[in-house]
Amino acid sequence: AKTLRLILGDQLNSKHSWYKQVDNDVIYIMLEVMQEQQYVKHHIQKILAFFAAMRNFAHQLTQKGHEVIYIKLNDKANQQDFAQNIKHIITKGKIKRFEYQLPDEYRLDEQLKQLCNELDIETATANTEHFLTERFDVRDFFGDKKGYRMENFYRHMRQKLHILMQGDEPLDNRWNFDADNRKKYDGKVLLQDALVFDHDVAELKQMIDEMQVPYFGNIDEKRLEWPLSREEALKALKYFCESLLLHFGTYEDAMLQSHTSLFHSRMSFIMNVKMLSPAEVVGTVLRYYEKHKTEIALAQVEGYVRQIIGWREFMRGVYWAQMPGYEQKNFFEHQTHIPHWFWDANTKMNCLSKCIGQSLDHAWAHHIQRLMVIGNFGLLAGIHPDDMDAWYLGVYIDAIQWVEITNTRGMSQFADGGIIASKPYVASAAYINKMSDYCKNCHYDYKKKHGDRACPYNSLYWNFFDRNANKLQKNPRIGMAYVTLNKMKPDEREKIMQQAEVYLNDMNNL
Ligand code: FAD
Ligand code: SF4
Repeated sequence: AKTLRLILGDQLNSKHSWYKQVDNDVIYIMLEVMQEQQYVKHHIQKILAFFAAMRNFAHQLTQKGHEVIYIKLNDKANQQDFAQNIKHIITKGKIKRFEYQLPDEYRLDEQLKQLCNELDIETATANTEHFLTERFDVRDFFGDKKGYRMENFYRHMRQKLHILMQGDEPLDNRWNFDADNRKKYDGKVLLQDALVFDHDVAELKQMIDEMQVPYFGNIDEKRLEWPLSREEALKALKYFCESLLLHFGTYEDAMLQSHTSLFHSRMSFIMNVKMLSPAEVVGTVLRYYEKHKTEIALAQVEGYVRQIIGWREFMRGVYWAQMPGYEQKNFFEHQTHIPHWFWDANTKMNCLSKCIGQSLDHAWAHHIQRLMVIGNFGLLAGIHPDDMDAWYLGVYIDAIQWVEITNTRGMSQFADGGIIASKPYVASAAYINKMSDYCKNCHYDYKKKHGDRACPYNSLYWNFFDRNANKLQKNPRIGMAYVTLNKMKPDEREKIMQQAEVYLNDMNNL
């Protein structure tokens, strides 16, 4: 009796127990479908990287002796939807059992549950064997608390996994090195180039074009820079340990016009499609640190480990605790549409032009660019979280809803009213100027709140607090902003609010 096992595009985990032995009664199926190209418009590099990595994965399984059905987007028999394709194969191949690994997206989880209800053969699910926590661990950890705080969960994870611990206490008696980290780049250490690959994906791109897949973003189709196999992913991890970890924490929040990734690891795509597991990434980093303790400070390693065993697992847990429903949250009731320059980077605001431009060129930006430049602007300008989500979910190579929506709608847009963040991540130009070199050659003046060439972030910042006083004023973590706002001279305050109105009414031309 034949079993059909589905492998989704973000389930490229070659270490999964499914593949431990070759079983002649098992057929694997992988599908390129229009369904996945249509729920949002994706960056062309994202589409190509997913398809190319899937094709590699299928090829490697076949080479190991597994039987794999791989349906390409342009195959004649492709029904362009998971359920229809699977039903067709089950009938044609006299399949007696259907199995799938639990999807990370609510949308696919529902679709596959529905499919199983409709099938009249045995069905079963398997764990993806990727994450360090189960779907509902975060929900159970916080119980009915209104806000979930990452720091509490992170400390629990450190203890549970016994990472950077000395008995029950954190190594060096500190859980958090944020105060030592997060400096502006000061030119004191040499920057390293990001490790990029150069895959020729011209043929694949041609198929995408022939099939009229909607997409946006830029690409050099002879040199797709993303790792597409486990071997390449391991190279990227090694490169991070040897060349970037040393300064990861220190410059984690720094932004630079001349260097897009500084000391970031660019491991998000690799992990999100499961080419490497978080345990493997963190384990490798910790082993490297053990061997190089005299050179690498604990703060760098703690900063990195926190992102993966803390933030990444936490966001996934919030997603499952809050879905469905989270995708409709809009705490501030924002309604404005995203300005057109999100799609072409054509704005006079240098920070946004650079961060969006980089996102369009590389399908990637680092955390502070996503949070404090692009997301910050969206929140201050009152853009609808649906528009923000659609842009973020489309543009980034690592964007899959469980980790995109929690970061965008939750952390960055505060549309959940404070489930993830205890206060909105907003800042005026002073912060952007402090952490980057964008302001020095900007059309706008970061010091000015109103008047000719005043930086839009400044007036929009005060407008944000002013218009949301009823929602935010009582928050003890925000009180200071209101103290400052209320101390402003009335005519100064009036000028700032007028300036904000001018900008809000002309957002496409900023
Ligand atoms: P590094 O800085 O090297 O960090 C290492 C790893 O930690 C990352 O690879 C990632 O797996 C994990 N990590 C770090 N921060 C977070 C976080 N906040 N949430 C979850 N994991 C984290 N990350 C995605 O993977 N997919 C997304 O769609 C996504 N959308 C985002 C949207 C917004 C508005 C913001 C503010 C952040 C978003 N992030 C997203 C989180 C983070 O910005 C990226 O994971 C990171 O920039 C990827 O680059 P890196 O691998 O070099 O990260
Ligand atoms: Fe951005 Fe304002 Fe600085 Fe220009 S002046 S780079 S718009 S923060």
